[in-house]
Amino acid sequence: MVSIVSISLENEMDLVLAHKRSMKAAEKIGLTAATQTTFATAVSEIARTVIEHTDMGNMVIGVDQYKQRYGLTAYFTFDSSIKFTNADEGYYYAQKLVPEFNTGEANGKSFVELKIGIPRSVKLDASKINLLKIYFDKEAPLNAYEEIKKRNDSLSKIAGAQEEEIRQSKLINEKKTEFISVASHEIKTPLTVVKAYSQIIKAAKDECSDRVKDFAEKIDRQATKLLTLVQQLLDISKIENGSLTYNLELVNLSDFIAEMVGIMQHIHPNHVMIPAESDPMLVFIDKLRMEQVFSNLLGNAAKYSDQQTTITVNSAKHNDSSVRISIVDQGIGMSEQSAQSVFEKFYRSQDVLKSHSGLGVGLYIASKIITDHGGSIWVESAIGKGSTFHFTIPLSG
Ligand code: ADP
Repeated sequence: MVSIVSISLENEMDLVLAHKRSMKAAEKIGLTAATQTTFATAVSEIARTVIEHTDMGNMVIGVDQYKQRYGLTAYFTFDSSIKFTNADEGYYYAQKLVPEFNTGEANGKSFVELKIGIPRSVKLDASKINLLKIYFDKEAPLNAYEEIKKRNDSLSKIAGAQEEEIRQSKLINEKKTEFISVASHEIKTPLTVVKAYSQIIKAAKDECSDRVKDFAEKIDRQATKLLTLVQQLLDISKIENGSLTYNLELVNLSDFIAEMVGIMQHIHPNHVMIPAESDPMLVFIDKLRMEQVFSNLLGNAAKYSDQQTTITVNSAKHNDSSVRISIVDQGIGMSEQSAQSVFEKFYRSQDVLKSHSGLGVGLYIASKIITDHGGSIWVESAIGKGSTFHFTIPLSG
């Protein structure tokens, strides 16, 4: 069936629309006044019955092939749980008015179909049907009710299209996250093997010359860098799909900081890293994840400052219930705008894009870990004056 006009049947106001539109359709096709009235009456009877039983019916008026010629059809659909019987007056009466009357179920909905033949003399053809469709599409609303209904229709179409767009972009995002996760896993495995062999070579006694051991050292260092990047990508996909989990344990903070600074000093021997003295404080943290935070902040402090400069780690009570840890460097610093954006995913400041490598995700992951621990993270910095990254974590008990 080529649909010409469609009306949702929600309340009595739609009855008027159904009647007028069916009358107009029959008139525009060129049916006699008597046939127009008969068709419109049958349509109104079914429309009333549908509206009486449900507010979610629909009616489409259209043209289709009918016994070697065209037929004018009104096709009603409504909830499949609703079945009309001849006890429904309108339903009974409408059957008497039109030559063809069908009911049944299709596509999970009940339907009623009314059909009358269109005489060949009106010379209906595909182009006339198309003009009819355009006429109804463009026709001004019959009354204020129809105007609102049309606007609502177009609004809900827009909302539907937007929902679909959001759904699609979510789907694409999920696929991207899944791809990152799978690719990172695939890269991680051989990389771990490369690292393991380079360490074996480094540790070999007489089998390898110093030159070879030096190469192995370089391979090991680069493999570590790559592994950190791959691990960051894996963490991003964990954050995206909400599967970043924590194993909290009670930890003495100053011991933990001293250990972290020791490890990072070993990795960055050309900087001077100083853990400031502080009172013993107990915190409830995931040690591995917190290690990641320190490694990122201390690593950045070294990466974005000159060799031989100092990096200090201070810790002090922030308030009664939390401790503040501050990592102070004497490096390149950053603009105010960068300071506001550094915790965003993939953010890298313009000043470092060409000079320093990186993915721009370390601080995003660190801030997620800190906020998941119930703390907050921020930076104070000025270009050329160094940066201080502060974060808080709740004290235990
Ligand atoms: P990456 O270092 O891989 O780019 P991060 O998320 O760790 O990613 O850092 C984001 C950006 O924040 C960096 O690209 C750099 O512009 C800036 N940044 C981070 N730490 C410092 C620092 N200590 N001094 C100056 N800029 C920094």
